[in-house]
Amino acid sequence: MNKPEKIWLSSPHMGGSETTYVQEAFNLNWIAPTGPQLAKFEENLSTYANNQSVAALSSGTAGIHLGLKLLGVQADDYVICQSFTFSASANPIRYEGAIPVFVDSEDKTWNMCPVLLEEAIERCLSGEFLTGDGKRWTGPKKLPKAIIPVHLYGMPAQMEAIQKIANNYGIPIVEDAAEALGSTIAGQCCGSFGEIGVFSFNGNKIITTSGGGALTSKNPSMVDEAKFLATQARENTPHYEHKVIGYNYRLSNVSAAIGIGQLEVLPQRIEKRRANFEFYKEAFAGLEIQFLDEPMGYFSNRWLTTVLFDDAPQPLNTAVRLALDAHAIESRPLWKPMHLQPVFQSFPYVGNSFSEKLFKQGLCLPSGSNLTLDQLDRVASLVCSVCK
Ligand SMILES: *Cc1c(COP(=O)(O)O)cnc(C)c1O
Repeated sequence: MNKPEKIWLSSPHMGGSETTYVQEAFNLNWIAPTGPQLAKFEENLSTYANNQSVAALSSGTAGIHLGLKLLGVQADDYVICQSFTFSASANPIRYEGAIPVFVDSEDKTWNMCPVLLEEAIERCLSGEFLTGDGKRWTGPKKLPKAIIPVHLYGMPAQMEAIQKIANNYGIPIVEDAAEALGSTIAGQCCGSFGEIGVFSFNGNKIITTSGGGALTSKNPSMVDEAKFLATQARENTPHYEHKVIGYNYRLSNVSAAIGIGQLEVLPQRIEKRRANFEFYKEAFAGLEIQFLDEPMGYFSNRWLTTVLFDDAPQPLNTAVRLALDAHAIESRPLWKPMHLQPVFQSFPYVGNSFSEKLFKQGLCLPSGSNLTLDQLDRVASLVCSVCK
């Protein structure tokens, strides 16, 4: 018997014109470092960031790191971060030696809970916390330097409530929109709510430059500063003059050429991912499987379709994942919350364990924009056979 063809969780999906733009870069010998393709990619990307300025970078992680640098985050500062996320949201906090304060999620969007955010800010002022592993923790009494909400799986976080609290205390926001390119609230793009927004074009994201990211801000001088830091912080002199520590974080011109082509098909990619979500929702009607609906006015790019299984008698997410795996179908548990990660569990945590429930009961289903109806049918019939 032939081995069944592999179905991936979320694989790259080229539109066709990427190689034309890459060829253009080659024809001009703009292989590296910067060049016209990089400038064009930034200009086109700006459409998906409410026309803010954009700096294209080597990764989304680099964007979060530079965002924290631009806001002056230093060792022993507090930075509040959503706990239910990928580790790249939090790692840059530690690059700077700052203290992550992990905040749990609410059930409408699965993102940062505004009530817990406010509690976390108050705890920063008192310097008293419990850690992810339940121990007492005391530290400096001061306001956090930044807040990092995440639009996980493409679903926008409750930005209105989060911004209101952040504004009350005068704390800037670094918005992790790595998974949410094209998602909006009341028509406003994710990535354009905070002082700084960050996108990722890693291989599994909704569009890819084979590896890359971007930082965006309403404030063009912040974006200029990001580009400066991303190119080794070289001063404008004939020789190499440096006054501050720099990084090698700029996106290459060739990668940007791929990005130009990918941006052209982003609307179709979003449409298809949203269609995947609707397909699964219909296929699983009648089963004990929950989907996360969009709150009024929220538009998710549905980067990944995520489902929750009932917890009684026990969640079927693992059984489903193993059954899919046995048929060469990739699925994945939801993100394990940061406050439960060995590397972060001894840092402050403010929560209600909601993200832990999501981790225990959830599953990400194959969600690529290149999935065929046939492949979706294969996934759905296996899930149904385990759940019936
Ligand atoms: C992918 C991702 C990042 C990091 O982006 P890279 O481009 O892979 O560095 C950050 N945060 C979240 C939520 C992500 O999914």
